Amino acid sequence: MTTIFGKIIEGTIPAEKVFENERILVIKDKYPVAPVHLLIMPKKEIPNLQALTPEDFGLISEVIQVAQAMARQFDVVEGYRLVTNNGEEGGQTIFHLHFHLIGGRRLTHLA
Ligand code: AMP
Repeated sequence: MTTIFGKIIEGTIPAEKVFENERILVIKDKYPVAPVHLLIMPKKEIPNLQALTPEDFGLISEVIQVAQAMARQFDVVEGYRLVTNNGEEGGQTIFHLHFHLIGGRRLTHLA
């Protein structure tokens, strides 16, 4: 696998894993912007949201279910943000699809 997240999925780079199944991995962001900052990623190498094809939509449905479970586990169901950066212009720095789950403080400005 080609990106940092690919290497984390393979196990060649360490990360703080909080959930894993055959299709999805959740880790803590190394540089958190809030008390809760998780990265939810499909293990399949998909560069970003724009690269998704209809065959991946089931996977995204599972990402949403995992996000709900993580929100419960980390006690942020009252307020959190689930966001993906698409493309360099959209702030994406690692080109392996991932969703930031951010919470644990009051969130204001989006950008
Ligand atoms: P993005 O800018 O949307 O591509 O998000 C990449 C995220 O990965 C950033 O929030 C980084 O803080 C985070 N990050 C970078 N390297 C690592 C790493 N080795 N382990 C965990 N998170 C990382």
